[in-house]
Amino acid sequence: MGLIVQKFGGTSVGSAERILNVAERVREEKERGNDVVVVVSAMGKTTDQLVSLAKEIATQPNKREMDMLLTTGEQITISLLSMALNHKGIEAVSFTGWQAGIFTEDIHGNARITKIETDAVNKQLSKGKVVIVAGFQGITVDGEITTLGRGGSDTTAVALAAALKADKCDIYTDVTGVYTTDPRYVKDARKLLAVSYDEMLELANLGAGVLHPRAVEFAKNYNVPLEVRSSMEKISGTVIEEEATMEENLIVRGVAFEGEITRVTVLGLPNSLSGLSTIFTTLAKNHINVDIIIQSSTDAHATNLSFSIKSEDLEQTLTVLEENREVLEYEQIEWEMKLAKVSIVGSGMVSNPGVAAEMFKVLADHEIHVKMVSTSEIKVSAVVAETNMIRAVEVLHEAFNLSENKR
Ligand code: ADP
Ligand code: ASP
Ligand code: MG
Repeated sequence: MGLIVQKFGGTSVGSAERILNVAERVREEKERGNDVVVVVSAMGKTTDQLVSLAKEIATQPNKREMDMLLTTGEQITISLLSMALNHKGIEAVSFTGWQAGIFTEDIHGNARITKIETDAVNKQLSKGKVVIVAGFQGITVDGEITTLGRGGSDTTAVALAAALKADKCDIYTDVTGVYTTDPRYVKDARKLLAVSYDEMLELANLGAGVLHPRAVEFAKNYNVPLEVRSSMEKISGTVIEEEATMEENLIVRGVAFEGEITRVTVLGLPNSLSGLSTIFTTLAKNHINVDIIIQSSTDAHATNLSFSIKSEDLEQTLTVLEENREVLEYEQIEWEMKLAKVSIVGSGMVSNPGVAAEMFKVLADHEIHVKMVSTSEIKVSAVVAETNMIRAVEVLHEAFNLSENKR
């Protein structure tokens, strides 16, 4: 007998019927003799609808109140699932994040979990009850309710699994596992049997929305056995583990992508020792997340600098740069919107030189212009026009032998 944490996402709990289906999946796990903790998201598109509602009230809603609002979504699901289980004769109790002892840092909208006090959950488990916990939410030491960032219920589940020393964490969702790329966009994407923590972390950070990046971080740091699987079909999913063996000696495991990127170019910065640190310190102080950076010296005196940001941060970035013009001493700012980042990920790259070259050749052969590049040991990212994003994903997916029809 073990302890299993199950997590069900928005689509999987999107209606009364689906909640009853989830209750059946919980019952099956319980009947296998396991203790079960269930983490759930808000039903269907509830969180999106609450965000829209708030924006009808205020253009920049107060972040604390936003957390108050959004956490209600998950509270609906926990109570309904508990009712469904109790009705089926399975004793269950629902907990909000704070009742489950999930503490976070003092940041609204994107807080990190700092500790989990498991006493309340353990007490109910020892009575034989199924414990249902609201995903995506926590509490600060001062008693303020926080949220973990969009998609954060995955992180609640994995962090709880780590704190409770669960035997496994199953992430049930609307696809049957982690695919070589988003199956919603690429029809011949293929389900992977296994992915390593490091590869999954890169894929999640580079836009593969199937898992919240912080959930993968927790799983890696605490060695939580993780599986992504379908809430509808009863088949095994994708295992995320320390060392995943490559199926068929592939170098690339998957392709991730992300739109809504803007490239900002600062022209004519003085060539001083502290110039770079001043500009990025100024942006960081204003919570602007900079991704890829390219620096080039035009002559002995001036430097041009390009960096990529999320398009939603453009207005603030321009304001901050303008406000600091005198300190930064640049000549001009230019920007290009409607860009996207396409990335190939795979631990096989470490020992195979030429992967980046191959990627650029494939993109060039298809007349896709690369505007920025960034690499790490296990990934290569290229920034391209947003209109080329899906095409770039498709041709790379094909070229690196990931497609279903290549098997
Ligand atoms: P949930 O509500 O269950 O958390 P999400 O919508 O957050 O579900 O995540 C599942 C979705 O992730 C899928 O429907 C799919 O479109 C998307 N996705 C993106 N990249 C991948 C990938 N590599 N493999 C599988 N799904 C992916
Ligand atoms: N309900 C939240 C969201 O839609 C959290 C989650 O589903 O993981 O982002
Ligand atoms: Mg999700």
